[in-house]
Amino acid sequence: MLDIPTVQRAAPSKAGLVDPFGRHVTYLRVSVTDRCDFRCVYCMAEDMQFLPKRDLLTLEELDRISSAFVERGVKRLRLTGGEPLVRRNLMQLVRRLSRHLESGALQELTLTTNGSQLAKFADELADCGVRRINVSLDTMDPERFRRITRRGDFATVMDGIRAAQAAGIRIKLNAVALKGVNEDELSEMVRWSHGQGMDLTLIETMPLGEIDEDRTDRYLPLSVVRERLSREFTLSDLPERTGGPARYVSVTETGGKLGFITPMTHNFCEGCNRVRLTCTGTLFMCLGQEDAADLRSVMRSSESDEALHRAIDAAIARKPKGHDFVIDRTTSRPSVSRHMSVTGG
Ligand code: SAM
Ligand code: SF4
Repeated sequence: MLDIPTVQRAAPSKAGLVDPFGRHVTYLRVSVTDRCDFRCVYCMAEDMQFLPKRDLLTLEELDRISSAFVERGVKRLRLTGGEPLVRRNLMQLVRRLSRHLESGALQELTLTTNGSQLAKFADELADCGVRRINVSLDTMDPERFRRITRRGDFATVMDGIRAAQAAGIRIKLNAVALKGVNEDELSEMVRWSHGQGMDLTLIETMPLGEIDEDRTDRYLPLSVVRERLSREFTLSDLPERTGGPARYVSVTETGGKLGFITPMTHNFCEGCNRVRLTCTGTLFMCLGQEDAADLRSVMRSSESDEALHRAIDAAIARKPKGHDFVIDRTTSRPSVSRHMSVTGG
């Protein structure tokens, strides 16, 4: 009998994802919608044009691509947006993804939210294995909150935070430091959030997408904020790095942890472990660059995931070294034309 070798199609590599600079990609952020019920002044224009719904991946497709990443060694998955909790039936996706927590493949399933819908979904999120979430809150003043978000209700967000805490979910607050807007209350926010058992991370405004105002006017370097806070608090650097952009300090007076995300004053790219998927299936290998890979058409071209894995490999092989953000008066256009709500921060 002739020994005829069977023609084997190249098996997709299930190896972990390592970029050309040796960085392991273990963290995927998924923007499940570009829509939002707020219009934060630093994030969006008042009359934002959102994507037509027909362009969105279905929840099944979001699950399929996310799960392909989990298969390739992604350990942390963050759902974001736009506002993730305004995506219809999002809980179906969270429930499906939670199988990877149960199997142990995924260490963390989490989300970043503005908190407006949190009271409604907190219990179910906890039930799906979500243990901590990030809530964005830039001020403690309801009037200011309305002005910054253009349409948010402070009390509703507070209810959401309390509901999440009651459900056993730990919360980290994120606040964008804005010159002339909330700079006078940042120390109060440190005291309040730590007093409520929540860590706080401050973020520098980043030049993403056209908005209705000039970002230069609102840009507040966190080096300045840190210097001011250190007059009131004892801040000690913590060695802890999450592979993310934040540097942490402990605050002796409150016993809490304070993070600084400083893309403008300190480049955070050397330890970057993440990539970002949009709600249309576009993969951005860097928040601060335009290069992207279209995973939607690849995924839709075949029922098997082979081509998808190959496309993921090719994308990771193009992950750039870092971003080139600039905010100054000589550059009136944003460094990156898409809004933060497309890639979800
Ligand atoms: N809607 C959710 C929320 O606000 O938490 C999730 C998406 S939002 C785009 C994610 C984070 O990005 C928020 O903490 C928000 O404050 C931050 N953000 C939005 N635009 C930004 C910008 N231009 N510079 C810095 N941070 C920004
Ligand atoms: Fe919406 Fe979040 Fe952007 Fe505010 S920061 S407009 S809540 S996506």
